[in-house]
This record gives sequence, C-alpha cells and structure tokens, in this order.
Amino acid sequence: MEDLVHALITWYRRARRALPWRDAPSPYRVWLAEIMAQQTRLETVQPYFERFLIRFPDLAALAAASLDDVLAMWSGLGYYRRARLLHRAARRVVEVHGGALPADPQALRALPGVGRYTAGAIASVAFGLPEPVLDGNVKRVLSRLLDLELAVDSAAGERRLWTEAETLVRASGDPSALNQGLMELGALICSPLSPACQECPLAPACLARRAGTQAKRPVRAPRRAPRVQPMAALVVRRADGAVLLRKNPPEGLFGGLWSVPLRACAASGQGARRAAEELARALGPGLGAVELAPGRPPRLEHTLTHRLLRVRVFQALARGSRARRGCRWVEGPERLGRLGVAELTRKVLALAAGTKKEGARSKRSPSRSG
Ligand code: SF4
Repeated sequence: MEDLVHALITWYRRARRALPWRDAPSPYRVWLAEIMAQQTRLETVQPYFERFLIRFPDLAALAAASLDDVLAMWSGLGYYRRARLLHRAARRVVEVHGGALPADPQALRALPGVGRYTAGAIASVAFGLPEPVLDGNVKRVLSRLLDLELAVDSAAGERRLWTEAETLVRASGDPSALNQGLMELGALICSPLSPACQECPLAPACLARRAGTQAKRPVRAPRRAPRVQPMAALVVRRADGAVLLRKNPPEGLFGGLWSVPLRACAASGQGARRAAEELARALGPGLGAVELAPGRPPRLEHTLTHRLLRVRVFQALARGSRARRGCRWVEGPERLGRLGVAELTRKVLALAAGTKKEGARSKRSPSRSG
C-alpha cells in the first residue's frame, strides 16, 4: 500500500498537466472546475472556466449575479442544470456560511448540486482533508488495480470502490495529490481502450495487468436505452431575418434558457406538424399569421442524459413583429452568444440555415477524459 501510494504521488507530481484551477486551488476555483468538468472534456472546460472567473471572480460575485447572467456565461457548455444549481448553492453559501465554502464534507454535500464526489474533491484538493473521490477515471483505475468483477455502476461495486478510494487517501499523507493522481492516471495512462501499462506507476501492483483482463475492466451493468421523445421545433423569422426565441420556465426541459419554441408531440410526422401549428397559434396575435413553410421538415436528434429528442424543424415567417411576453427577437448569431441559449436551439438554427446536415446527432462527452 505504502509503495503504491508513493509511486502514484511521485508520478503525479512529475506528469500532471498544467490546468488553470491547479494554480492557487481555492475552494471556489476547485468547486467551479469540478462542476464544469462533469460530463465535459477538460479542453472544453478551460476557456469557459477562465471566462467565468473573469466575470464572477469570487463566490460573492456569483451569488450576487442574476441567473440569466450565469446561464449566459455557461452558454455552450451544456448540462445547464449544473449552472442553475451552482448559482443556487453560491447564494446558500452566502446565507448560511457567511460567503465561504465550508471544509466539512457533510456541510458541502448539503449544498445544491454537490454530491459525494464533488464534496470529496473540494475537501481534499482545497482543504487537504483525507476524503475520497470516485469519478469515471478513478473507477476505471481502481477496478483494474483490483481486477474487480463487480459492475462499477452497481450499488455493491460503488460501495467497494468508495471503500478502496478511502483506504488509499487515508494512507497517503497528501490527499490532494493522491486524489488528483488517481484522476490524472485515468485520464493520461489508464485510458478506457488502450491503457499504457508499460508507463504506469501502479503496474507492479495491478491485478488486471497480471491477469491480462484490462480490456474487460471496468465491468458495467447493461445500460437502458434512452427514452425517445419526438418533438417539433418552430423557427419563426421576421422579414429582416431576426429569429424568435422563447424563455423556458425555470424547471423542466432547458429550464431558464432561451430556445426556439418547442413542443413534444406524437411519433408520426402529422403529430409534429400539428404541434408546430399549435405553437404558431400560441405565439399570439402580435406576430400576425405565422405560416409554416410547406414540404417535409428536416429532422435532427439531440441526446440528453436519459432521453433522445427526435426533433422536426419547421420554419415560419411572421408578418407582425410584436413578440409576446417571455419571447424576444434575436437579430444575428453573434447575439446568441450573449444569452443563455439551449444547445439544441443552436443546432436547430444551424439546420434551418443550411449550415448543418439533417439527421446529425449529438454525442455525450466522456467525463474528464482530458
Ligand atoms: S497497469 Fe495498466 S491497467 Fe493497471 S492501472 Fe496501470 S494502466 Fe491501468
């Protein structure tokens, strides 16, 4: 155990990547980086992290900001629920903890959007406490190290891995380096498809390497197919080319974000057309007659965590220009960057403008694979 921990920490200090949140890892910076890195590649996160810190340099600035401003700075990063919870948690920290993130993992986990993993990362990296972390990279490293046959996403598998991660961090003497070392090893060496075992500091202790089972670890429980949800999207243009966006209610699909009008519908093509007509009627008399363009509307797919949205994109021209409450006109693509806009809306507008091909499907990004 001692040799293994020593080898990992030594390797981490030598091989770690320079990432903006690793300089001066204050609790706020570590927290922000961890939330942004969920489901998102690190190279995608970096510019967002830097811009976000310029706009909201500390927790007090984030708590004082409006949710609209926070969503606008998050725009394009996806999984917007993270931004809403981050903002709510910042306000809670100001109310309950006087504006300073607490070190206690239980107090951290009481904050919106902070689970056991994020609490462990903040406690260990920012406060140096021996708290474990377990993200996708750590699960992969530990399941190979132990040659674990339990599914890592089962309750029993998770329990076992948390216990192992806890044993390691308590034995480390440097919780921050140990936890970051495990994550970095998973990102750089113990990769999902082709682990570089010959370069790995843990190779002498790795049971999967000894058994030749690296490719079979980690074991995963069979995934349920995502639920398919057919939808209609309506791109309403004014004569000058401006596009109508609507603000979604705070909770629910794309909550708090601006998007083209969307409506769930039945699976048939007629169901989508009916939904688009209803949307057009609901946009109100200020727009005049909103007429759907004839012909077969193009389709795209958009993956959410547990849902696959299959979206028919209808276009319409508005004769009037008075947008009803909760809607606004956006004149050009550059204006979109200043609003919190759902990623699906960018794809819909690109498809409607002919800059994206029909049937294009988004992929989920692997977490922290760097
Ligand atoms: S020896 Fe190979 S499989 Fe084992 S932890 Fe290292 S990289 Fe992963």
